[in-house]
Amino acid sequence: MTQVTSDAKADARKRQPGQPTAETAVVVRLGEITLKGRNRPLFVRQLGRNIRQALKGVDIENSDWGPQRIVITPGPRLDWPELRERLQRVFGLRNFSLCRVLPWDLDAIREGVLKMAADAEFESFRITVQRSDKRFPGSSQELERELGAAVQQATGARVDLTNADADLQVEIMPGGAFLHTERVQGPGGLPVGVSGRVVALLSGGIDSPVAAWRTMSRGCDVGFVHFQSFPYLDASSRDKAISLVRQLTQWQYRSRLHVVSFGDLQHKIVAGCPPPLRVVLYRRFMLRIAHVIAEREGAEALVTGESLGQVSSQTLSNIATIDAATTLPVLRPLVGRDKEEIISEARHIGTFETSIEPDQDCCTLFVPRNPATHSTVAEVEAAEQALEVEAMVAEGLANVETLEFRWPEA
Ligand code: ATP
Ligand code: MG
Repeated sequence: MTQVTSDAKADARKRQPGQPTAETAVVVRLGEITLKGRNRPLFVRQLGRNIRQALKGVDIENSDWGPQRIVITPGPRLDWPELRERLQRVFGLRNFSLCRVLPWDLDAIREGVLKMAADAEFESFRITVQRSDKRFPGSSQELERELGAAVQQATGARVDLTNADADLQVEIMPGGAFLHTERVQGPGGLPVGVSGRVVALLSGGIDSPVAAWRTMSRGCDVGFVHFQSFPYLDASSRDKAISLVRQLTQWQYRSRLHVVSFGDLQHKIVAGCPPPLRVVLYRRFMLRIAHVIAEREGAEALVTGESLGQVSSQTLSNIATIDAATTLPVLRPLVGRDKEEIISEARHIGTFETSIEPDQDCCTLFVPRNPATHSTVAEVEAAEQALEVEAMVAEGLANVETLEFRWPEA
């Protein structure tokens, strides 16, 4: 996709307002980003990069950036379902519409609206006019009444302002009158990349992919770490992590997954420490290793899929004990959510089906019958006296496989 060049901008200035350059356009409305004050240019630039990346391989002629909207002109081979699906995964977009574009001419607009009405099926309708460019004469209400009367006469349908089957919308912008019947919801949030980097601890479960996605939605670029116990357990959790990262990469275009072999460390913990503390100790070592990986990646925080009270390791005291193993902030975007909400979000993202495939997760290795639901930092530090903590972290870091992901794939 080409940005408007200064020549194109000069052309646009010379053009009479309301003169379209194409018959079809996709109008994209920005979300929260329009509120971002002095950071706005930076956010918009990042969003531009992300849209260009997300639309790679889609036939686009050009795009024109306004303060609240982007108008994308598709090429002759427009694949709307594909374009729609791609845009629905770009954080920072509020909504978008596929539009017919008409000149600023009331007769042409009326005819366009009637055509749009003929293509839609409805018993009740409303007209919504938005005059983003006030140089267009008349008020929005006058236009709505005028166009509404024409549609009513042509179709016999009734007007319903609050609960209509069809909303026939006209947006008057400098580049023409844009007609459409649908605002496709975008994901909202902030463009990936504007909030810095984090590293997410990704298991093969339902929660951690959703947690990673939530931080992406706030503009974070997410790197991934997965711990596996191969060859003590099979490689199924690694396969799931790969497949999850592939899916999540559709929302951030480029990802890196570090797969850490963790089984030998777990053996040492099992051999040297009290059984009830095993899970908390596994987690502390995971955080220590993830911390180093985060530093190498330039990441400023870690992310986990923990929620409060879901399992024994997720009590307040255990969370505190686990956090004490790292000086990085540990973000837990799911802390206040219940499982049903998380599951419906996982379905929306597309990770649910992968997450529920059976696997052998490292946390199931040597788990005692009664894991501690309460622990203290003093207690785990005492237990860790039996271990060579630094050497074990170094050992974990020496057994990392790093995989790169791109989307759209070449
Ligand atoms: P999930 O559904 O994400 O597996 P969970 O509800 O099963 O979460 P736990 O098993 O207690 O909860 O794991 C808590 C968090 O610890 C996970 O959300 C994830 O961030 C991290 N974690 C657990 N196991 C692994 C693993 N094998 N590799 C990387 N991170 C892990
Ligand atoms: Mg799990």
